[in-house]
Amino acid sequence: MIHRDLLLKMIEEITMVIGANKQYLTDLDQTIGDGDHGINMDRGFRAIKDKVEAVKDKDCGTILKTVAMGLISTVGGASGPLYGTAFMKAGQVVANKMEITAEDAVKILDEAIQGIIARGKAAQGDKTMLDALIPAYDALKAAVEEGEPLTNAMGKAVEAAEGGVAYTKTIAAKKGRANYLGDRSIGHQDPGATSSYLMLKAIYDVLT
Ligand code: ADP
Ligand code: MG
Ligand code: MG
Repeated sequence: MIHRDLLLKMIEEITMVIGANKQYLTDLDQTIGDGDHGINMDRGFRAIKDKVEAVKDKDCGTILKTVAMGLISTVGGASGPLYGTAFMKAGQVVANKMEITAEDAVKILDEAIQGIIARGKAAQGDKTMLDALIPAYDALKAAVEEGEPLTNAMGKAVEAAEGGVAYTKTIAAKKGRANYLGDRSIGHQDPGATSSYLMLKAIYDVLT
């Protein structure tokens, strides 16, 4: 069970981790994109800090929706609307709820992914954030359905996401700016898959 206050800690941790990896994400994007992914993400998460603070006594849905709107208005780039949609969908799952169950967590990741797909029209294997998120979802769902505690299940999701990030090195991009490189994007890790992994890892680290 993730209580509202733990959710707030997760958002703080994500902000910290994105900040710490700003250069790393930007370097990855420099290789196959336009070199701004870390800058975009860091700007977005720093901008939500005050907005989230203002709704810290509200329900989980309101908090996630606040994150979503903040990201949409400040991140820019492809990743802003995509992550914004993901947080918006996540918030709808836990509207008016003060805590998030393991089943909610599975639903949140599912809805977030469906939102990203609806908006960006990418599929697994296109070398995007989905290549980290979809394996993470599959692992989380399987573990929760087997009755594993949420923390263990999240650990498996993080491992799966890490595998997904490694996988992005082996494939050519079909979506986003890296798509312009065609096969020359092979051998390089996708920045968005990497930021997705880092966010899941931050969530897991708060749980442990
Ligand atoms: P931009 O490419 O506009 O500069 P960013 O650098 O912030 O935006 O984000 C790039 C990342 O966004 C990519 O590494 C990829 O993971 C993700 N991405 C791009 N297009 C899509 C899409 N259509 N669907 C899902 N993810 C995408
Ligand atoms: Mg970019
Ligand atoms: Mg850009």
